[in-house]
Amino acid sequence: MSGDLITAVAMSEPAVGSDLSGISTKAVRDGNDYVINGQKTFITNGINADLIFLAVKTDPKAILAHKGISMILIEGDTPGF
Ligand SMILES: Cc1cc2nc3c(=O)[nH]c(=O)nc-3n(C[C@H](O)[C@H](O)[C@H](O)COP(=O)(O)OP(=O)(O)OC[C@H]3O[C@@H](n4cnc5c(N)ncnc54)[C@H](O)[C@@H]3O)c2cc1C
Repeated sequence: MSGDLITAVAMSEPAVGSDLSGISTKAVRDGNDYVINGQKTFITNGINADLIFLAVKTDPKAILAHKGISMILIEGDTPGF
């Protein structure tokens, strides 16, 4: 609220809009970290954001497509972002 941080909500992908059950960006646990791979598009403030609320698949084996999806907070200066 103070305006010190710019945030973004990153859900849409090149092949996924309204139906978020189809996202393919994945977050895979690696020790204390998550390794995240994928693409997002149309993200308001995406290139300016300090903090991004990122929709990812954390359980690609979930039988129902809309399960196994998580929101991960990622900082804009994270290596590889
Ligand atoms: C200016 C702008 C800013 C944006 N900012 C963000 C952002 O910050 N973060 C982010 O994650 N995304 C963002 N988006 C993406 C936006 O959320 C998507 O455009 C939206 O989810 C729609 O997806 P789509 O364009 O792929 O359309 P589609 O999902 O392909 O839908 C196409 C059309 O079909 C309709 N439709 C879809 N499903 C159904 C259904 N089940 N029943 C009936 N009708 C249906 C839709 O209403 C639409 O008219 C932004 C888009 C724009 C234009």
